[in-house]
Amino acid sequence: MKDVNQDVTPEAPVDDDFLAGLERGELLYPRCADCNAALPFGAASCLHCGSAHLKWVASAGEGSLQSYVIYHRSYVPGVEAPYAVGLFQLEEGPRLLARLDLSGQDRFVRGGEFAARVQDGQLTFG
Ligand SMILES: [Zn+2]
Repeated sequence: MKDVNQDVTPEAPVDDDFLAGLERGELLYPRCADCNAALPFGAASCLHCGSAHLKWVASAGEGSLQSYVIYHRSYVPGVEAPYAVGLFQLEEGPRLLARLDLSGQDRFVRGGEFAARVQDGQLTFG
């Protein structure tokens, strides 16, 4: 029987600076180097002044849960189901997808406050 998990591994581009931050234990997000506006992840230029000079800065690591999904089958090699992925809005503004710690299931409400934890280069909100 064909292993369907081998064909669905996501290959999303992720910025090297963001990944380097996670390796150091930091959650980084993009800001404009000219007007200092917080920018969405993946922005190629500033939405406020149009500058292409962006920088990565450390987040305080606090965010609110906007939405989430619980996977009952693993789509990520080395990650056992069930696991959850949430859409978080950082206090600084940008939104990002990250693992959601399932141990706090009673708090899974829209707008619930979560803290980022970076360990071994992996980002989880819990
Ligand atoms: Zn700007």
